[in-house]
Amino acid sequence: WETTLALLKPDLLADAARVRAVEQEIGQQFRVQERRQIAWTRAQAEAFYAEHQGRPFFGRLVGYMTSGPFVALALAGPQAVSQWRKTMGGTRPVQMRVRNPASLRARFGLTDTRNSFHGSDSAETARRELAFLFGDSKIG
Ligand code: ATP
Ligand code: MG
Repeated sequence: WETTLALLKPDLLADAARVRAVEQEIGQQFRVQERRQIAWTRAQAEAFYAEHQGRPFFGRLVGYMTSGPFVALALAGPQAVSQWRKTMGGTRPVQMRVRNPASLRARFGLTDTRNSFHGSDSAETARRELAFLFGDSKIG
């Protein structure tokens, strides 16, 4: 039993019906411990994605994640970290439409940058990211 961080990124948030559909699916698979709608400043987005600083897509990523509000969820369940990444699918939506069409990124993602979802990549990353998003609540 572990907890992971999921983000429903700004492109998804722009479509309320899609957000409802996605959150309903998530609710069938995980226990949602926390939910928060957030809008980051540039500095907050850069801090969250600090490991990607210097990568060619970093500017696009920060621009995207500050383009509008997004939703952060703390998802709990058995092997929640790997389960959520499996449900999301890999980074690239267009590739996922071939390799894993049932995945959320295949169904909702737009481009390699605007791929609609985030999931922590390990239990340790999840702890750090949950603290970043929910550090002021009981879960951080
Ligand atoms: P993983 O953590 O396994 O590498 P991820 O889907 O979390 O997979 P990251 O590599 O951590 O992806 O990258 C973080 C985010 O940056 C991605 O979700 C995506 O929005 C953006 N991104 C990653 N790679 C690219 C790329 N090649 N081109 C454009 N945007 C990218
Ligand atoms: Mg990652």
